[in-house]
Amino acid sequence: MLPVLLAVLVAAGRAEADAAATPPHARPLVVLDAGHGGSNTGATGTLGGVFEKQVTLAVAQLVRDRLTAQGIDVVMTRDRDATLTLRQRVALANQRAADVFVSIHANASPERVQRGFETFVLTAAGVDVDGRALRSETGTPRDAVDGETALVLDDLERGAAQWEAADLAAAMQRELRAVRGAAGDRGVRQDAHHVLLGATMPAVLVEIGFIDHPQEGRELVEPATQIAIADALARAIAAACAAAVAPPA
Ligand SMILES: [Zn+2]
Repeated sequence: MLPVLLAVLVAAGRAEADAAATPPHARPLVVLDAGHGGSNTGATGTLGGVFEKQVTLAVAQLVRDRLTAQGIDVVMTRDRDATLTLRQRVALANQRAADVFVSIHANASPERVQRGFETFVLTAAGVDVDGRALRSETGTPRDAVDGETALVLDDLERGAAQWEAADLAAAMQRELRAVRGAAGDRGVRQDAHHVLLGATMPAVLVEIGFIDHPQEGRELVEPATQIAIADALARAIAAACAAAVAPPA
């Protein structure tokens, strides 16, 4: 009885794994993460009733529209005012085997005087820490690969993805400079940003501006500003997608 039962259980487990595996996607796939949401409002804006979670969602939706118009598939971590953990956001990107993960945020400063935009990539230490401690139990779903091997492949991909993330971050800053002005360029920065930990694809976090700055905070809620920023982000992301799906030279 036991061997038969085991065989049935193993077969059932395999069927489950197959069903859970993400089919390979022919078109580039981007996971866009609108920072914060729900009970997590993020930074408080200079205008009454404005919170970071609203600005990030509005911009993420505009970026989504621009990417999908170019034939790029987009999955949003949230498309409404919902509360999500950081782990849920990157887990979605890993589960869908996204080509690029972009988390969109707006900034605030203690004295409310800072302004400008910056893009974060993980530090090497952040990647390293993640590879050992924060990786998921089973790794990214892959066809014809056991769980242990999937974990090893995930670690390798995280390393390679860092170079592409740095390229994407530089492109983000370049494009934002073109629409928001060079004076606001705070550069590409490295940090162990928790929302990026565990991503197996190029992953960046962009701070599009300071919503508590007296002037920039007002600009960031204007549709024209949000559209200009979304145009810039979409251009950088589309270029990264083109690089991701290009055949190796
Ligand atoms: Zn934020």
